[in-house]
Amino acid sequence: MSLNDVYTELIMEHCKSKHNERELKDFTVSNRGHNPSCGDDITLNIKLNGDIIEDATFTGVGCAISKASTSMMIDLIKGKSKEEALSLVDKFIGMIKRDITDEEELEILEDAIVLKNVSNLPARVKCAVLAWHTLRESI
Ligand code: ZN
Repeated sequence: MSLNDVYTELIMEHCKSKHNERELKDFTVSNRGHNPSCGDDITLNIKLNGDIIEDATFTGVGCAISKASTSMMIDLIKGKSKEEALSLVDKFIGMIKRDITDEEELEILEDAIVLKNVSNLPARVKCAVLAWHTLRESI
């Protein structure tokens, strides 16, 4: 199995597992992210408890990359403060733009690090960053 297969598997795993893809009844903020070039249309629902992201989910339609990226992001930000979440957004976008290439610095992105190779696919970059931009607008 090549490294690329592992990446694909992780992306498919996040895409199939619906643990983050559901309605959230008691959300505090809900924000829609739309990427017309691919058709991704995802709504991010966040429940804030003071400064802490207590829960987050998403609904909508999207390609495998956008859904996997959203799900990975949600796993990462739950239980984090707004400030911590925003710093993760900067790291992720920095990784995709190749501004940040230091593997150690990117380790905090956990599963989402597998999306690094998306930076080689300009057409998919918007799919990968959609949820992260939406999160930044939401908090
Ligand atoms: Zn897409």
